[in-house]
Amino acid sequence: SVKEAVVNIEIAEMKGRKSVKECVTIARKAFSNGRSRSLAFRQTQLKGLLKFLENHKVEIEEALHKDLRKHKQETNTSEIEFVANDLRYTLIELKKWIGPEKPKKRIINSLDGVYVYNDPYGVVLIMGAWNYPILLTLGPLVGALAGGNVVIMKPSELAPATNKLLAEVLTNYLDQECFQVHQGGVQETTELLKQRFDYIFFTGSSKIGHIVYQAAAKHLTPCTLELGGKCPLYIDDTVNMQKTAKRVLWGRMLNSGQTCVAPDYLLCTKQVQELFLKEAEKIINKFWGDDPTKSPYLSKIVTENHFKRLVEFIKGEQISLGGQVNSKELIIGPTILTNVNPHSPIMEEEIFGPILPILNVKDAQEAIDFINSREKPLASYVFSNNKKTQNLFLKQTSSGGVSINDTISHIMTENLPFGGVGQSGLGNYHGKYGFDTFTHKKGVLVKDFSAISEMALSLRYPPYSDQKTQI
Ligand code: NAD
Repeated sequence: SVKEAVVNIEIAEMKGRKSVKECVTIARKAFSNGRSRSLAFRQTQLKGLLKFLENHKVEIEEALHKDLRKHKQETNTSEIEFVANDLRYTLIELKKWIGPEKPKKRIINSLDGVYVYNDPYGVVLIMGAWNYPILLTLGPLVGALAGGNVVIMKPSELAPATNKLLAEVLTNYLDQECFQVHQGGVQETTELLKQRFDYIFFTGSSKIGHIVYQAAAKHLTPCTLELGGKCPLYIDDTVNMQKTAKRVLWGRMLNSGQTCVAPDYLLCTKQVQELFLKEAEKIINKFWGDDPTKSPYLSKIVTENHFKRLVEFIKGEQISLGGQVNSKELIIGPTILTNVNPHSPIMEEEIFGPILPILNVKDAQEAIDFINSREKPLASYVFSNNKKTQNLFLKQTSSGGVSINDTISHIMTENLPFGGVGQSGLGNYHGKYGFDTFTHKKGVLVKDFSAISEMALSLRYPPYSDQKTQI
């Protein structure tokens, strides 16, 4: 039967698949062989990665459509080109970054060599999330390869079509011992985390972030944890509401809200809420039509369980706009909720769907107090033309990053670090920050042997005397 045939194929695939231990042994051997360290090798790998993105653009678009019903324009801008830009920039800068760096010397070291070596960590584990299955696997890979590391990648099991491309096609563009893909779910991740790595880079929820951090602690392995949380948004009455509503709805609904830095809830006065809803209604119609569940520009919710969770969130809440659901296709129309209780289930966890609850506050200070009473978010958003209000948020709240008068775009800005703080994460990457994340900063002093240096050093040798101390 067809079912038996599928099972047989799966068994054959499993048999052909290397065990976690085998993968790590291959990676260790490749790293100790030293080839991943040279500039030329790193450049070849990075160029290989770029070629993969260029040569397989259409297959990537198709895979993401299969996994998430993502529109190809979103796939291009928020996945393929995002990584490709980081790659092009890294290829230009890499020679400079590798170093060794020569920091400013103090007079006492004027005859010495003072250097910072950027050493690769060694064997690195990268675990990506399903919502941007190209960006969140290949984005960190850029920094890891630029840093001269050997990589084992574990993409999320919830984006199988994209994973197939990574495992079967991308591997042909890179050194097959210095880059391996290990596929699987909870069981495989648990097995992977028992191994000793030199660095772990994890993107996922704060809950699983705790599990990863504990596993890393067993071997004192350094980690970057790119986690999630509820990203707040504040709008005041000084802004153009039409432009604001466009920028907010784009960011909230991108990938149907399944974006770690999406604005999760809106804080504003009742008056601002009314203006926002008026504009939002027009914009939702313009962007996604009369029945958004039929729009080709909305991704599907990744699984039935994720879909049910979101539908539960809406139940019992006051729906001011949207609320359409298509349970067959797993699509939810852009939905805006008002009069939301800060203790309702939708305000207790990250939404990760196309729903925006609005909570009323009387002013910016009340919004800041609300934000500060919760865990530190991955991103926060302020729409205001008042510099004082902008500064109030910048100085009095802590978050991974901030966009003022826009959503999401701070993470697309070259030269800005991307990462969380507190429960939203640990560490950062993108561009030079990615290279720094994946390299150990080794301080090196090359001492001079001349008579002058020897004389200076004689002060530290016994016999000690008051005279020596005074000099
Ligand atoms: P998740 O944490 O639920 O799962 C991540 C991976 O962990 C899974 O693929 C699975 O293989 C593994 N896993 C699950 N349970 C496990 C267990 N008990 N033991 C060991 N491994 C286990 O995250 P997700 O659903 O893939 O992604 C959604 C979350 O990721 C959201 O919270 C989102 O905000 C966050 N996120 C963060 C960023 C960022 O860059 N900061 C980007 C995208 C997503």
